[in-house]
Amino acid sequence: MSAYIDRFKGWFQTVQAEHDSVIDEALMINMHRLRWMAFVVVPLGLVLGGAYWVGADGSSPSVVAGSRAHAWADFSMAAVMALLGLGAQHVIKQGRATPMAQGLTMLASGFTLVITIAASTIDQTYLSGITAFLFGSITIGAVPLMRPRLALFMFLGAYGLLYHALALTQQDLVLLHIGRVTGLAAVFLSFFVSVVLWRQATANILLHRALKSINDALKSSNEALAAKEGELVVLAQHDGLTGLYNRRAFTQLAENELARAGRYPCDTSVIMADIDFFKKVNDTYGHPVGDEVLKHLAGFLSTGVRSTDVVARVGGEEFMVMLPQTSVEAAVVLAEKLRILVQDSPIQLGDLRISITVSFGVAGIAAGQSGTVDELYTAADNALYDAKHQGRNRVAVCALGRPPEAPVMPAASRP
Ligand code: GH3
Ligand code: MG
Ligand code: MG
Repeated sequence: MSAYIDRFKGWFQTVQAEHDSVIDEALMINMHRLRWMAFVVVPLGLVLGGAYWVGADGSSPSVVAGSRAHAWADFSMAAVMALLGLGAQHVIKQGRATPMAQGLTMLASGFTLVITIAASTIDQTYLSGITAFLFGSITIGAVPLMRPRLALFMFLGAYGLLYHALALTQQDLVLLHIGRVTGLAAVFLSFFVSVVLWRQATANILLHRALKSINDALKSSNEALAAKEGELVVLAQHDGLTGLYNRRAFTQLAENELARAGRYPCDTSVIMADIDFFKKVNDTYGHPVGDEVLKHLAGFLSTGVRSTDVVARVGGEEFMVMLPQTSVEAAVVLAEKLRILVQDSPIQLGDLRISITVSFGVAGIAAGQSGTVDELYTAADNALYDAKHQGRNRVAVCALGRPPEAPVMPAASRP
């Protein structure tokens, strides 16, 4: 038995926690509904009130009095709904469920019930039904979202009021009894509808919230994915050590450039650079220092050329610079400038001061001349071979079309 009680307690607490968590959204829904209700009920109340007021003209005094009372009820309903609608509008503008939202929900519901009880009480003087209360009760069951405990309190209160109010005007005990029983049925039905709709709204709000958080998570993981994709594109095109373009990206960019030079004829040149006796740097200071030297050389090359030139690391200690719209002669001048820059800029690594030299091979395609990236590459490689062969730390040029040279055998190490 106590296990059942515990289970019930657990269920009850879960439901209460759910209700607590959705109440703000439910109240905001109510504010929107209340605003709509005001739009509908205010003109309706005015029209109905007007109709009651003039409709009974010429009838017996008791009918006129009843109609006037009805008219006043409708007019006051229109006035109160107008105020409630303005209140709802105020809460909606604030954008969050304030205590005012709770107050307006209770006021609107309580007012509707009271006014329809009043109307049904007045009706008893000339008919036996409680149609007004039936409408009011069902409306309050169906329109505002109310926590079941609040709904129970509202409907019980309303029924208590109806029970006593009907006795004020209904003298026939049988009709009074019928009115009370009908009212009880209306209250039960309305409460049932209210609870069902509340549970449904709770489920909807929770579902909506879960969907939103899934959506948010998807959105942020999509953003992370897009950022990763961007990083991958950068990684695929760049050399991890120096940050320069890699050989693949260089080839692609050079192909694009040659295609452009084919359409709008202009000279295109390349410079290939290779550190002299780099192996010795590694052997003497270690690989990590060699890496730092490579990074410094990348910096020298990048800062020494124009922003439209493309600098790439195409091998271990080999670099390429592509110079769009540049003649071979201008490329040689630039290579010489770079050679002197490197030669005259010792690299400071902590206490270490390392001087390096670089050999350069220059090749180019003149405007109107045909040639491929491979041919340009081979020519620059040949020029570099010549530079190495002639003693290193120099610039050499090679025309397109010479067959590739055999690799340079490292010359005697420098001191
Ligand atoms: P040469 O003047 O003929 O160019 O002589 P070299 O010693 O520079 O040429 P070689 O081709 O014999 O040696 C190139 C060296 O570059 C060998 C290799 O260990 C080194 N190297 C290649 N890639 C890297 C790298 O990423 N980091 C470092 N530290 N060294 C590298
Ligand atoms: Mg070298
Ligand atoms: Mg090399």
